[in-house]
Amino acid sequence: MSKGSDVSSKAALLQAIRDQLEKDLPSLPLGNIGEPTVPGDGNPEAELVFIGEAPGYYESVQRKPFVGRSGQLFVNTLAEVGFPRPTVYITNIVKVRPPDNRDPLPQEIAAYRPYLDKEIEIIQPKMIVTLGRYSMAKFLPEVKISQVHGRLHRVKWKNHLLYILPMYHPAAALRGTQMKESFVKDFQKIPKILEWIKNRKDFDDLEQTVESALL
Ligand code: URA
Repeated sequence: MSKGSDVSSKAALLQAIRDQLEKDLPSLPLGNIGEPTVPGDGNPEAELVFIGEAPGYYESVQRKPFVGRSGQLFVNTLAEVGFPRPTVYITNIVKVRPPDNRDPLPQEIAAYRPYLDKEIEIIQPKMIVTLGRYSMAKFLPEVKISQVHGRLHRVKWKNHLLYILPMYHPAAALRGTQMKESFVKDFQKIPKILEWIKNRKDFDDLEQTVESALL
């Protein structure tokens, strides 16, 4: 990833992805079901990128990720740990609402992958937080979310080293008190983990052994 691009050029590059997605929609899976695209949203200079699964009803209406019930829990929890929504970037692996909010299919995830990959390449976040098992599987295909949630992983991705923090999906947190406690507890770790990453000197050393469960 090249370093040093300014805010306006990152914003312009992200807008170009949104435009391209819009243009490509008719040829993409879910492209002809009457739902609009829901592109990524947020700060082009974000240190933190959050990746969910796919938009739901309210996201599709507002064309903005995580504005429904689970989105409110997520965004409020995030603000409570010191990151108001405008400071971060929020996106999904699939950018159109699947029928009846069903889970995204492998071919849908594959078709929308180039847009997500470009978002990551442009923003160059210090850390990516995956919300739920589908976005986690993009970087950590072999693991179980119940075993690794809230633990930092460093992975090699397209010749870059990325820090990935897998979290439960906020919709899961809405289903039970225990899950919600776990979700909030994981979020409370974010400021400390981000500081730790920013103080590390070896981020760009591609020769480093890829470690998992660093913290
Ligand atoms: N769930 C997701 O995974 N993404 C959204 O944008 C909303 C709900």
